[in-house]
Amino acid sequence: MGGNEEKYVSEAFATNWIAPLGPHVNAFESSIREELGSGVHAAALSSGTAAIHLGLQILGVSHGDEVLCQSFTFSASANPITYLGAKPVFIDSERSTWNMSPMLLREAIEHRISNFKKPKAILAVHLYGMPYNVDAIQQIADEYDIPVLEDSAEALGSSCNGLSCGTFGTIGVLSFNGNKIITTSGGGALLSKNKTYTEKAIFLATQARDEAPHYQHSHIGYNYRMSNVLAGIGRGQMEVLKDRVAARRKNYEYYVGHLGNMESLEFLAEPEGYRSNRWLSCLLTPSFEHREKIRLALQKKDIESRPLWKPLHLQPIFEQELNFLDGTSLDLFNRGLCLPSGSNLVEADLELIVNIIKTTLS
Ligand SMILES: *Cc1c(COP(=O)(O)O)cnc(C)c1O
Repeated sequence: MGGNEEKYVSEAFATNWIAPLGPHVNAFESSIREELGSGVHAAALSSGTAAIHLGLQILGVSHGDEVLCQSFTFSASANPITYLGAKPVFIDSERSTWNMSPMLLREAIEHRISNFKKPKAILAVHLYGMPYNVDAIQQIADEYDIPVLEDSAEALGSSCNGLSCGTFGTIGVLSFNGNKIITTSGGGALLSKNKTYTEKAIFLATQARDEAPHYQHSHIGYNYRMSNVLAGIGRGQMEVLKDRVAARRKNYEYYVGHLGNMESLEFLAEPEGYRSNRWLSCLLTPSFEHREKIRLALQKKDIESRPLWKPLHLQPIFEQELNFLDGTSLDLFNRGLCLPSGSNLVEADLELIVNIIKTTLS
């Protein structure tokens, strides 16, 4: 926590705004809007997953539709596609960002259109805070007139060519889950430059109540709104977002500074114009065996590291779905490791980690 969260939460108690609406929710939404710029509107929700669910629905995804989804991501990116009775079609990654490959995206669109199944949406992810190839993906989306749902759950504070992640898609998504760069303990937001979309999200997230003195419903609704108490935490967290990004980027710089000259290790550099929040610092080792050796050596010293996200096309829940692959995400999964990346790491922690990795490889 940064400092002011407790003050805002106490304010919620003192004013008795203990509800899924209230002044903190409005102020939190304004602070997101201000932080991201580009005229984007925000609807604060109970989770990033809820935001993806509503976002896909607002883009018109429904039963039997197909959504082109980045394979290299967390399962929460794709699960909401199935909540709507639609099907994910998985797209592999490119080397330069580790995110959705524009080449395979185009191939998939052409293939599905030639089978009379034009995809309903493109779900692209800024994984680990690194922006996806925004220009290329958007150009393809425009060319085929398919909306983009931008999963920016891991990329608050990242930008591409000076514009904030979360503002690129027809609809964008943020997460404030406990593991993200800032947190409300649990929470998310749906973003759009189109205000009717964020208004629709708020409508659906509050049980889709029509205007009437009694309870009247002409749509199926959800209970997905963020509470005023949690939005109080969010307000305090937004005040320290820049510090958190700086701390995460400093971790990454330390790892690169001390391990980057080892020929066997690779890091993902920022392409020109890209700025990653470096939510997690990731390392590519020469092989699966090297990755495991390093992971287990760290574990022995009670230090947790994790393999990169397992591609969704390899998950038991999704392995029967259609996919367009070139082996990139599988290779990243086999060789990659997320290093300790907390905003509160100190230099002694980082030094210890680096030394264990060096010793393991020598
Ligand atoms: C965390 C995360 C989500 C889901 O957000 P929640 O707030 O945990 O529901 C979606 N996509 C990605 C890439 C994530 O990392």
